[in-house]
Amino acid sequence: MHRAEPLARADEHQHGGLAQDAAGQEPPVFLLTVDVEDWFQVENFKPWIPFDSWGSRELRVVDNTLRLMDSLEALGGSQPVKITFFVLGWVAARCPELIREMDARGHEVASHGYNHQLVPTCADDELTEDLVASRQCLEDILGKPVAGYRAPSFSIEPRLIRILAECGYRYDASYNSYGGNARYGSFDDMPPPDRGVARLANGLYELPVSNLSVAGRTVPWGGGGFFRLIPKGLYIRGVKAEAARDGVFHFYLHPWEIDPHQPRVRQASPMFKFRHYLNLGHCLAKLTYLLKRLDGFVFSTCSEHLGKVTNDSIEG
Ligand SMILES: [Zn+2]
Repeated sequence: MHRAEPLARADEHQHGGLAQDAAGQEPPVFLLTVDVEDWFQVENFKPWIPFDSWGSRELRVVDNTLRLMDSLEALGGSQPVKITFFVLGWVAARCPELIREMDARGHEVASHGYNHQLVPTCADDELTEDLVASRQCLEDILGKPVAGYRAPSFSIEPRLIRILAECGYRYDASYNSYGGNARYGSFDDMPPPDRGVARLANGLYELPVSNLSVAGRTVPWGGGGFFRLIPKGLYIRGVKAEAARDGVFHFYLHPWEIDPHQPRVRQASPMFKFRHYLNLGHCLAKLTYLLKRLDGFVFSTCSEHLGKVTNDSIEG
């Protein structure tokens, strides 16, 4: 089996902010992000799994997340693959050891909200409460600042940016430019990103998830179900093309996407079941295949990348 070159070291070729290669070009950056929620917390299953039943469901997120971290470490490249976990407060409160383990292995811990409430369903005070509680929960576990947030189902709204800054967050990663999912929010006022980072008027930074741009159209390519659907060779070509254009590829996944043995929600619609259960058994191998073929890329957490692009000090 062909084995790719060792993964590039994040601290190689340091020159000012971002690393540079011998020709003075900055190597592309791969931001691997994981939204840490369990199989019973996904938005598509909400009608069949009420919130007050979450506590009685089989918790699989710890084993799945540990397996994911172990697989990243087993890649064996010269550069450890450091990633950003956006964690639900609900999960963190029940599994504090998992959160400490993420941090101990050098990954970034950020917030995915507390109870997976979509932004448009929350009044301002409810949203503030959710953002404060989820951040506080993580900071209490880790004893250090938490800088980032990703809204459930990319449900960004302009007011989210204001409230995040009021709550002490430094960056948001909730914008997904794909318009084909009704839950995804819109953010018309976002300035054009530079290397995957947009500086917003109120001092917050936005790190949008990547997609492909083909003939003026946005093709969903950022991760999740589309990653599981698209053939791996084609997917990798898309990642490299987008990274060549933007300097960065911002990818997302969930721990339940590498778990083919999770309980089935049989009442859900055929479309939701297709989207949720597609290719779960191949997902982790496909991810490691992708990572091994991104030779020349730098792997970075969101806050690390943000600090290098902006020269701003981001603790997270
Ligand atoms: Zn989520």
